[in-house]
Amino acid sequence: MKKTIKDYDLKGKKVIIRVDFNVPIKEGKIIDDTRIKESLETIHYAIEHDAKVILLAHLGRVKEKSDLEKNNLEIVAHRLSDLLEKEILFSKKTRGEGLEEAVQNLEEQEVLLIQNTRYEDLDGQKESKNDKDLASYWASLGDLFINDAFGTVHRSHASNVGIAKLLPNGVGFLIEKELNALKTLDQPKKPYTLILGGAKVSDKIGVIENLLPKVDHVLIGGGMAFTFLKAKGLEVGKSLVEEDKIEFCKEMLEKYEEKIVLPVDVNVTTEFDENAKNHVVAVDEIEEDEMGMDIGPKTIDLYRPILTESKTILWNGPLGVYEMKKYQKGTKDTLSIAVRGNRRLILGGGDIVAAAKELGFLHRVKHASTGGGAMLEYLEGRDLPGIDAISEEE
Ligand code: AMP
Repeated sequence: MKKTIKDYDLKGKKVIIRVDFNVPIKEGKIIDDTRIKESLETIHYAIEHDAKVILLAHLGRVKEKSDLEKNNLEIVAHRLSDLLEKEILFSKKTRGEGLEEAVQNLEEQEVLLIQNTRYEDLDGQKESKNDKDLASYWASLGDLFINDAFGTVHRSHASNVGIAKLLPNGVGFLIEKELNALKTLDQPKKPYTLILGGAKVSDKIGVIENLLPKVDHVLIGGGMAFTFLKAKGLEVGKSLVEEDKIEFCKEMLEKYEEKIVLPVDVNVTTEFDENAKNHVVAVDEIEEDEMGMDIGPKTIDLYRPILTESKTILWNGPLGVYEMKKYQKGTKDTLSIAVRGNRRLILGGGDIVAAAKELGFLHRVKHASTGGGAMLEYLEGRDLPGIDAISEEE
């Protein structure tokens, strides 16, 4: 078990919390503040326990000067202030006298947000390459480091790994929750079913290789199903196919024949356009000029008994092009089966969480992971440096 914020006396301490404020911004407006909201529990806790709160966060990528303004974190400071119903101090710079003075003057229960950590990437990628001097500079500003940014734990950056090694440390409530959910997957209640969708096989090779031996069933939908169908010798028309992954799919089909469930029918169209005509066909009836956009109703019938008897379901990737309303049905019907009953349903990765949210199922899901990339790397069996850098409980 990792140390958590609850293991420390925070009173009067300068507590640096690494949060995930990497929110989508369009035309100067935050279009989804879920990530800010998810960090509130830890921030509230630190305030209530009389800490002097210092927040580190990144926003987007900063490669050149023109990336600075659009990734300025000040906009988040305003939203955070609204959500906390409290004034927030903001340091426009990631280092320097102004920041140091603001830290020195910080009172108990005050909150200071530091500018986008990736501003440091402009000069030699200091943040992303975990520059030692940068990590020690940030560490010098605080007494304690708490990591609550699950979305970046698969990265080894100065603001999550470098700094953790230099201060007493722990995780916040969000990371604690994510770790508890992931732990249940180490010894899942069986039957254990994996649902895999999304666009490409190539994005999920590590997950497939690592998880197929462990699960009882894997239901494959989305764009990636078509490379598997092609590997079985079917013609899939203009559907998304990765020719160079056909061999891999063949191997998986041979090795895990009893576990893998592929679609038996699909909703097809001739253009990648919501206005183009569509219809449902059996997978061996896809015409040359047609592409599969969603799984069909007979496939759902195939999924139903498997899902109903599953005690654990892990789901990554939507089963159709859910961005277009008429291809949401496969994902929606599967969600409505999966959320029912007494089972552990874990959604991992951005797009399926976004789809579940849009389709109104998110509140019925046991756990929806906030960190797409981090969750995927964990599922691939890889280490998470942001977690490894945090001390274990004695
Ligand atoms: P991922 O990021 O791997 O979860 O992939 C999500 C994307 O997969 C979404 O943008 C979906 O539109 C896309 N997707 C799902 N089903 C299909 C399909 N049948 N053909 C093409 N793309 C798909």
